[in-house]
Amino acid sequence: MQTQRILSIKSPLGPPVEILKHTFSAQSNKPRVSFVAGLHGDELEGLYICHKLIRYLKELEISNPEAIKGQINIYPAVNPQALENATRLWPFFSLDVNRTFGSGQIDSLAVETSQILLQDLKSSSEIVIDFHSSNLQLMELPQIRIIKDFEKKLLPLAKNCNVDLIWIHPNAEIFASTLAFNLNKAKTPALVIETGICHRIYPNAGDQIFNGMLNLLHETGTLNIKLDSVKEPKLVQSDQVKMVQAYHSGLFIKQVAVGKFLEEGERLGKLIDPIEGSVLKEIVSPCSGLLFTLREHPLVHKGSPLARIVETLRKK
Ligand SMILES: [Zn+2]
Repeated sequence: MQTQRILSIKSPLGPPVEILKHTFSAQSNKPRVSFVAGLHGDELEGLYICHKLIRYLKELEISNPEAIKGQINIYPAVNPQALENATRLWPFFSLDVNRTFGSGQIDSLAVETSQILLQDLKSSSEIVIDFHSSNLQLMELPQIRIIKDFEKKLLPLAKNCNVDLIWIHPNAEIFASTLAFNLNKAKTPALVIETGICHRIYPNAGDQIFNGMLNLLHETGTLNIKLDSVKEPKLVQSDQVKMVQAYHSGLFIKQVAVGKFLEEGERLGKLIDPIEGSVLKEIVSPCSGLLFTLREHPLVHKGSPLARIVETLRKK
């Protein structure tokens, strides 16, 4: 393993803030695959997956170095200042770094950093995987979200990743300044993996994605290893996704877990009024299908998302 500092920033008081890149390479013409974690400093699952990848590849370098056919780059913590504070945003600037990759950005240290990261990824990758977790409110099943414009290139790669579902959704203005959008626009295929919830690590989900990453590396010819088969992901179009929202402010008490196949009318939880001691509403599923997003944070206001369900998917 070779380690490189792609960026070192002087900090006002202490040691410099650095972005590290670990490389495992066979110096061949096989694909170069890069993994990025921690763009949002409160999303920790990707760090766990990178830890597992680094550990696995270090062992492989010793036990079976010929198995490494291409190049693997791991950027385990690309927003160290936010990670140290466990905040989504870059501290001091209050900037979402994953909204600083497009053109027309106002010059700042965060924007300079994101440009260096983008250039480094473009120059050293044929495929990029960007790990994310959900926000504080919603728990997500391991999934890949693909903008429809990039579907043709990304879908065959995404199917190797051992996720539960692949959600193909229309483009929107908000994506234009993200890392993955700008890589895809520059013709470097980039997959965004979303799982769990921020501030937490769920090793089962992390292990599932880790196995998917090994499978992706194997399928692309970057690694030559023996593996168990991976999950066939559910392919989801946006019109199949049904959102359940709170109709009233209150506390949401969940009574199911993500990953469940629901029947229409099956109970998801209840909305309660903690002040008056009343149950405001029993929340039920509007359709049958796979529950892939569920509200974890109980406080809700009118319109808050409670759940997302892929309609028509049934348990086999
Ligand atoms: Zn994120």
